[in-house]
Amino acid sequence: MEKLIVASNNKAKIAEIKAILSDLYDVRSLKDEGVVSDPEETGATFAENALIKAKAAHDLTGAATLADDSGLVVDALGGAPGVHSARYSGAHGNDDANNKLLLKNLEGKENRKACFMCAIALIKSNGEIIEAEGRTDGEILFTEQGEGGFGYDPLFYSYDLQKSFGMANTTEKNAVSHRARALTALEKKVRA
Ligand code: IMP
Repeated sequence: MEKLIVASNNKAKIAEIKAILSDLYDVRSLKDEGVVSDPEETGATFAENALIKAKAAHDLTGAATLADDSGLVVDALGGAPGVHSARYSGAHGNDDANNKLLLKNLEGKENRKACFMCAIALIKSNGEIIEAEGRTDGEILFTEQGEGGFGYDPLFYSYDLQKSFGMANTTEKNAVSHRARALTALEKKVRA
């Protein structure tokens, strides 16, 4: 079976990708392959960043690769934190500081509508590029609810689940998440 290298070392992401694509590809992580690839994410969109990461891994390995890029898009903040979601407050991956800053920047704003977006790029071993996107809609809460998930999950009230992503278990979140939707859209294109 052909190898597909996922340009990430995030175990939860790789498990989710495996669950959907394992009958098409032998899904492997960068770590499985002993490859280090960490290009600068200089894109202005999620799709550009996903492609940057997939290309960097493809250039290094020559194999089929897949990368995703995702984040939170808040209407009243002109789409921020967007592609800067992981480092909204400065330090990369400081969820607590990011959530605090998000609440501060939304003080006094009536519109709290937001969505999570995810873009995925798959580069086949012959260089062909397949791209897909997914989104999930909701609102930013006034206080954190729940301890589940990661990132902005405790502040994101999902319209689909009628509760915060922080209150959802993995199965519930994976049924409606931006990443699951992008993966399903990608799967359809790969199989077409
Ligand atoms: P990544 O591109 O998947 O690494 O996501 C970038 C950043 O977006 C993360 O560090 C989180 O801050 C935010 N983010 C992406 N997906 C989610 C999610 O499902 N829940 C909460 N935060 C997320």
